[in-house]
Amino acid sequence: MGDTIIPVVHQQRRDSTDRVTVLVLGGGVGGVVAAKSLRRKLPEQHRVVILDRERDHLFAPSLLWLMTGKRTPSQISRPLDRLARRGIEVIGGEISHIDPDSRRVRVVENPHGDDPLSRRLGGVTSVLEAEHLIVSLGVELAPETIPGLADAGHNFYTLAGAESLRHALSGFNGGRIVVLTATPAYKCPAAPYEAAMLLLDHCRRRGIGDNTQVDLYAAEPGPMGVTGPEISGQVRRMVEDRGITYHPEHQVTTVDGSGKTIAFANGATASFDLLAYVPPHRAPQVVKDAGLVDHDSGWVPVDHQSLHTRFPEVYAIGDVTGIPLAMGKPLPKAGVFAERQAKVVAHNIIHTITGKGEPAVFDGHGECFIETGAGKAGFGAGDFYAEPTPQIKLHQPSRRWHMGKLLFEKSWFRRWL
Ligand SMILES: Cc1cc2nc3c(=O)[nH]c(=O)nc-3n(C[C@H](O)[C@H](O)[C@H](O)COP(=O)(O)OP(=O)(O)OC[C@H]3O[C@@H](n4cnc5c(N)ncnc54)[C@H](O)[C@@H]3O)c2cc1C
Repeated sequence: MGDTIIPVVHQQRRDSTDRVTVLVLGGGVGGVVAAKSLRRKLPEQHRVVILDRERDHLFAPSLLWLMTGKRTPSQISRPLDRLARRGIEVIGGEISHIDPDSRRVRVVENPHGDDPLSRRLGGVTSVLEAEHLIVSLGVELAPETIPGLADAGHNFYTLAGAESLRHALSGFNGGRIVVLTATPAYKCPAAPYEAAMLLLDHCRRRGIGDNTQVDLYAAEPGPMGVTGPEISGQVRRMVEDRGITYHPEHQVTTVDGSGKTIAFANGATASFDLLAYVPPHRAPQVVKDAGLVDHDSGWVPVDHQSLHTRFPEVYAIGDVTGIPLAMGKPLPKAGVFAERQAKVVAHNIIHTITGKGEPAVFDGHGECFIETGAGKAGFGAGDFYAEPTPQIKLHQPSRRWHMGKLLFEKSWFRRWL
């Protein structure tokens, strides 16, 4: 099948009538925020194109509520196509090649499309070319790298896994629930801790709390390590005070689904009746193949303020990036950073195209809610770029912060889709 080249304007000297294409790779948090922010301020003549293999944008924080039956899939996702009403071109398909030198991207459109033609052809391949490229392709989840893990447990970091966990929970009448982090670094460092607290709360509400034990086996030495020992200790206490047994520095090696046991690198073993896990993460293969990834960190290096990669007019934002902090650990992967980075990159591209305004910088500020169950949440916020260590303040769990998270969820779709 031949490649179709979508018409482009080449980057020579521009006058005000030139048409520029901005290509946004990924329709997750960073991608949607970037595309929408661009479209709001870019003159109409310029194209904003967003590409994703999924039809729907998923609000991942609510997967934790989906797994305990408080949300349905349709409540936490919206069709990306809605962006088309705002003048953004939405292309559904698998990005199979990125050339950051020419800013050309190959996409196999609708490889699993419903229409008979795309079923027969197995997808139509197009090549798009842009003056500005934003890579927001997130992470690839790799449960298969831990033998037995995928068959034995529920990967609540995906919609399918959170749904299968909800289903398993409905038939669970007590026993031992294990929440497991399969590697020390993963997106949303609070999520497995929240998951453990919400699962226990759910069982208590169902009246099976007395027969239920929740254990959290973590590969990392403590919760949310980048925030420093004090905050980490406070989050650990939140978990333990609720009756969860915490086992840090337990690196899983194998899982035996039939015997329902987990083996760890330190020689320990653990049994479970229900296993909910965070899988290993890695950069998407297509991003690695593009030569965008740094060999040592495994992620895309960027300028920490502008999110520029080493390729002209190619930016990377969100989970796919690796941004080292002064304290020696990387900036955590979280939607709040993807959102703020997307706004900065969109602003700076608009500035480059129109010459209006002043360039903006990403300042490393971030915040997160920590759901603790029983209608409460904690809230942490601060400056992750502060030196020598991030300066974060943690507010203790209360109904107020839980309400804040509910409002944030509501406002997400209103603002972006
Ligand atoms: C359970 C859970 C709870 C969370 N809670 C929070 C929270 O409370 N607060 C917070 O800040 N963050 C939270 N996060 C993290 C947050 O969801 C991510 O950090 C955020 O989504 C990152 O945005 P992104 O744009 O980098 O990547 P993503 O949002 O993952 O988007 C990447 C997109 O790229 C697409 N894609 C990838 N490869 C290809 C390809 N080859 N072709 C086509 N499309 C492709 C994917 O389909 C996806 O839509 C949570 C995550 C999980 C799993």
